[in-house]
Amino acid sequence: MFEKLVIANRGEIALRILRACRELGVRTVAVHSDADRHLKHVRLADESVCIGPAQANESYLSIPAVVSAAEVTDAVAIHPGYGFLSENADFAERVEKSGFVFVGPRPETIRLMGDKVSAIAAMKAAKVPCVPGSDGPLPEQADENLRIARDVGYPIIIKAAAGGGGRGMRVVHGEATLLNAISLTRTEAKAAFGDDTVYIEKYLECPRHIEIQVLADHDGNTVHLGERDCSMQRRHQKVIEEAPAPGITRRMRDRLGARCVKACKDIGYRGAGTFEFLFQDGEFYFIEMNTRLQVEHPVTEFVTGIDLVKAQLLVAAGEPLPYKQSDIEVRGHAIECRINAEDPESFMPSPGTIDFLHQPGGPGVRVDSHVYSGYSVPPYYDSLIGKLICYGDDRAAALARMRTALTEYVIDGIKTNLPLHARLLKDAAFIEGGVSIHYLENRLSR
Ligand code: ADP
Repeated sequence: MFEKLVIANRGEIALRILRACRELGVRTVAVHSDADRHLKHVRLADESVCIGPAQANESYLSIPAVVSAAEVTDAVAIHPGYGFLSENADFAERVEKSGFVFVGPRPETIRLMGDKVSAIAAMKAAKVPCVPGSDGPLPEQADENLRIARDVGYPIIIKAAAGGGGRGMRVVHGEATLLNAISLTRTEAKAAFGDDTVYIEKYLECPRHIEIQVLADHDGNTVHLGERDCSMQRRHQKVIEEAPAPGITRRMRDRLGARCVKACKDIGYRGAGTFEFLFQDGEFYFIEMNTRLQVEHPVTEFVTGIDLVKAQLLVAAGEPLPYKQSDIEVRGHAIECRINAEDPESFMPSPGTIDFLHQPGGPGVRVDSHVYSGYSVPPYYDSLIGKLICYGDDRAAALARMRTALTEYVIDGIKTNLPLHARLLKDAAFIEGGVSIHYLENRLSR
């Protein structure tokens, strides 16, 4: 195992990585911005390095700053967490060229899956079901594009090949607005991602979001750890996730999982990864792959008993996967609520000092959070301040446990979305299970 590892992230995920390192006897280096000196993992790490000012562009997103921190501390490996540089192929390449181990897939795999057009082409070749669409980038010619959209059938969605974080997408309901929408999306994509390549997909009107977790080692041994349902979203941001997905049978899981495993082998995948699908009328449609750890990984850990972060570290250190597909069993049910520092009605961020904190506990209750009484949530980053994850023998038990845990959770001094979660956990359609990705926004607008 590595002697020393740089945690190139902040917040709850940095703490999560630190804990896994401790258990494996890996020494840790916390790199942090000026605004993050008081983060819990910075205090707990063996060493810490300030890598720049509060602005993420000059600290957490600065490739030279992160790599230099690894150099000056004699670290061996770098774990990127999620967000920030985690899916930046140039970063992964620079890390490896500088002689460090990148905890994640090969740079070329990140690049292949980071471009949605090449990702879809690779998935089609591996026989993973994809959304019907333009089969590649749209050409310049207007009449060609009108024909492509007509063949796909309205409504369609125009997507930027380099898009991410829910940006660079536009839904079109009919021919009259198509050409204008294409040129707008191209302009936005050029400005946001430096690449104006766009493509078309059939717009699915009422899908669920279901994703498959995979894990692969250097030798191509690959397993899937079942699915998660992340349909409860607002503005493409997940709010509640669960595993397994309501109504998905073992047969469906095994079939889709096997396809993902095959795709991993085809592209030479290494490490932890997630295949995201839309699910409608009994069919799965691939939309993208995330070549990193996901925020919602704990629900999978609860139902499979596998520590995904430790598995990432073992695989990165060159160890073989210690389990085969037949060793993996999905047992019970887990639900995660993302706790954000935001107004539960307006969703405006609510940074500031937490002057009283009480976190829930008890059997089957897990809190992944970096905040403490007296901690000040800075205004510069994502508003996620923690995740509450509850496990039960079945979905009803997990829901009951989550309701109880939410009543115990007290965060004073800032606003949080805890009241929203309390309402959603009593929502009849959510309790029934299987709501679509539009459910939450429709409910909020009512
Ligand atoms: P990003 O990389 O920005 O997260 P995705 O391709 O994962 O983009 O899509 C984000 C979200 O946009 C999906 O979770 C879904 O809500 C919606 N979406 C994407 N493609 C389609 C589609 N073909 N039909 C309907 N909704 C879609």
